[in-house]
Amino acid sequence: MSRIVILGGGESGTGAAVLAKKQGFEVFLSDSGKINGEYAQMLRKWDIPFEEGGHSEELILNADEVIKSPGIPNTAPLIRKLSAQGTHIISEIEFAGRYDRARRICITGSNGKTTTTSLIYHLLKQAGLNAGLCGNIGKSYAYQVATEDHDIYVLEISSFQLDNMYDFKADIAIITNITPDHLDRYNHDMEEYVKAKFRITRNMDSEDCFIFCSDDEITINHLNKIVVKAKQLPFTQKTEVKEGAFVKEDKIVIRYQDSECDMYIRDLALGGRHNVYNSMAAAIAAKVMEIDNSTIREALSSFQPVEHRLEKVASVGGVMYINDSKATNVDAAWYALECQTQPVVWIVGGTDKGNDYSSLVPLAKEKVKAMVCMGLDNHKFHESFDGIVPEIVEAGSAHEAVQMASRLAKKGDVVLLSPCCASFDLFKNYEDRGEQFKAEVRKL
Ligand code: ADP
Repeated sequence: MSRIVILGGGESGTGAAVLAKKQGFEVFLSDSGKINGEYAQMLRKWDIPFEEGGHSEELILNADEVIKSPGIPNTAPLIRKLSAQGTHIISEIEFAGRYDRARRICITGSNGKTTTTSLIYHLLKQAGLNAGLCGNIGKSYAYQVATEDHDIYVLEISSFQLDNMYDFKADIAIITNITPDHLDRYNHDMEEYVKAKFRITRNMDSEDCFIFCSDDEITINHLNKIVVKAKQLPFTQKTEVKEGAFVKEDKIVIRYQDSECDMYIRDLALGGRHNVYNSMAAAIAAKVMEIDNSTIREALSSFQPVEHRLEKVASVGGVMYINDSKATNVDAAWYALECQTQPVVWIVGGTDKGNDYSSLVPLAKEKVKAMVCMGLDNHKFHESFDGIVPEIVEAGSAHEAVQMASRLAKKGDVVLLSPCCASFDLFKNYEDRGEQFKAEVRKL
């Protein structure tokens, strides 16, 4: 019996452990940190040995194959050791793909993954299809393959998960867009990051579909250099396309094979230019899945926004508070600012991932009346926005940030938390940052 070792005991690691156990492997899971109680309980229930708070190398280096959580970088000493001795290291998705015969719609990109994934899932469910949703929301792919039985999976896949995928194949692959993000994990090399994203098209053949944004220069430049066998279905807000999706006056139009569907942009449930892109990408996938036009229109207009993405929290004293905590990079914040029509008090800050804020300067000049920097190190914001934004203040917690923002905002303004940065300096994660922000707003 071969031995599978799983590194990382979060959602994906626990799911992979359960699937490996079910497939009859000898399984061991190891986590350098603490394993959440719910996952530890799951491992006990399935009788899977595990350790936490450190790695016992003698129990790991003897693995026939290792499933690595996407959070662990390839530069971690243990991973280096495993690679050096030639142990095969794969991702949870690669592993689960071996035991799954369902159709797969896979979404990656720098921004819009969760929104597009959720939109597609909603479309499939509205069409009455037996679909599973995997990604940042809900149960891991491996766990669902082990315990459920779906005809289609909609999978949100980060570039870290793509790094350790080899034989996995998507039936429909989507790259929402590619903008600089997580460059710290790719030797600050954009080319490496772009290549990682394009791994989603690996192994695809001519019956498969590749959906991408043809307005995105980085995507197009790379696409021109490589061969993708899958049928190419672009979405764009700039030109008309024969197949794919585009904007015509106040409508989006989706074309696939001989069929066309159109819909008023004002009827889309999600506002903002970025969501026109996300809705078009989702609608193309729906067309490929042969969902009828009326269901597509109905689903795209009834979708409920995902938490922490331009989420309207409350209006207090005529000031609207918006939680966009998931805007952990510059491009996401760009779209958040772009769709604001009222003066903005902008809450930014957190862990910098090598950000360049210059693309935000014109929007900040036009729309932002004050900035609250909520982070331990705010010097880059000062360097980029001093003299551009009339008032810049600093806050050391969500409480302080909301208090300051509420003093700076006047009736008719918007307070927008769209931080451009990761959250790990002051918060556990972006959800925690969003929750704390919302709790403080509700106390006002
Ligand atoms: P991801 O899962 O890729 O992080 P989300 O759907 O969670 O993407 O959205 C993350 C952030 O990016 C949010 O702030 C959201 O408003 C913004 N966003 C969503 N879609 C796009 C897009 N197509 N282009 C740019 N920004 C986007």
